[in-house]
Amino acid sequence: MIFIICIMNAVEIIKKKRNGGKLSKEELSFFIQSYLERKITDYQVSAFLMTVYFRGMDDEETLNLTKLMLNSGEIVDLSALKGAKVDKHSTGGVGDKTSLILSPQVALFGVYVPMISGRGLGHTGGTLDKLESIPGFNINKSIAEYKDTLAKIGCVMIGQTSTLAPADKRFYALRDVTATVDSIPLITSSILSKKLAEGAEALVFDVKMGSGANLQNEDESRELAKKLVSVSKKFGKKAVAILTDMHEPLGNNIGNWLEVEECIEVMNGALVNDLMKVNNVLAGAMLMLAGKAGSIDEGEKMADDVLRDGAVYKKFLEMVEVHGGSTDYIKDYKNLKRAKNSFTVKANEDGFVSGMDAYGFGLASVELGGGRKKAEDKIEFLSGIVLKKKCGDKVAKDEVVCELFAEDASKLEIAKELVNGAIKIGNENTFKKTLIIDIID
Ligand code: URA
Repeated sequence: MIFIICIMNAVEIIKKKRNGGKLSKEELSFFIQSYLERKITDYQVSAFLMTVYFRGMDDEETLNLTKLMLNSGEIVDLSALKGAKVDKHSTGGVGDKTSLILSPQVALFGVYVPMISGRGLGHTGGTLDKLESIPGFNINKSIAEYKDTLAKIGCVMIGQTSTLAPADKRFYALRDVTATVDSIPLITSSILSKKLAEGAEALVFDVKMGSGANLQNEDESRELAKKLVSVSKKFGKKAVAILTDMHEPLGNNIGNWLEVEECIEVMNGALVNDLMKVNNVLAGAMLMLAGKAGSIDEGEKMADDVLRDGAVYKKFLEMVEVHGGSTDYIKDYKNLKRAKNSFTVKANEDGFVSGMDAYGFGLASVELGGGRKKAEDKIEFLSGIVLKKKCGDKVAKDEVVCELFAEDASKLEIAKELVNGAIKIGNENTFKKTLIIDIID
């Protein structure tokens, strides 16, 4: 008789993936469970993430990883709430701040929006960091408080708790600082473990395409969109993915408080820009999945109307208050709170802005203090970039293209170089804007 003795160990699992092998459900389960029980270390998990980055995972491995990460914690049951529960999640971009608007906006239509978000990842910003730039805003509600808030006001925005998708919480922090963000199986399992845990019945994915996206290759972004929709359906959820442009930053502001400020202006109906357009298409898709609109177009029109009359801003203030955030700080947004030091980037010739490389702007924002380079880095909430020009705009020599803000003046130096390298000015207006690239359902 032959006995096969199978002793699982982290090094063997990493080695198997490194050599191009396929990991079984048992191996993935052992790895995640051991990490949660602190029996394997951050450096081993970092090596694992890097092998997955290079070797990828097939559909079965991705599905298993998603299930295991989802089941690493509690799955919220929202069935007691009568009415549609719909959420959206972005694959990450620069200046991408739609969650802050969508949550109160879609809730105004009687749809529950249970939102569990992430922090900044690599060169892209994160909803939780933006929310925490509002003094007092508590993103750490317990599940009971989360449900309670949702029932009371129709929307809620929190981070993963130690009981909700805890495996993602810890993987995410390591991926942010180990150059392992841009991997289809890691993004799919990260997003879906949070989204499936939060109790939503339908999901809209904003899949970014372009230099500032987490996946810079367009075919990979399409593949990610299809995977997010197909895996969601395997879990019995309705899902739509919208492929949106991320060649230039979305909207005018990059950096945590700066982005909240821009959202306030859009929610007030005072600012109409590309952010508002992308936001309203996503809202339209959420309203369609909730059964409130017959199509995305119809939902977009409904979403547009409530923005223009200021109703979303009022709902946002209500949400900030329930989360313990300072509404006085929000109401004072016209006082333009900024980091101590600034630099103005000017056009060096007459012409048209023909390119604003979103990746370069994202890296510059991290340098300025708006993101993290190590897991323990503290975010500077008032640091970042304000764009005065966008692609396609005419500029004259010495006209202001953007302003950089940092608490520490020395941080402006590298950011200046990155931003100068990211701006292209040409003689003709050759830029073609396609904000919504495709819809996959
Ligand atoms: N958002 C997430 O939650 N996870 C990712 O990996 C990328 C974007």
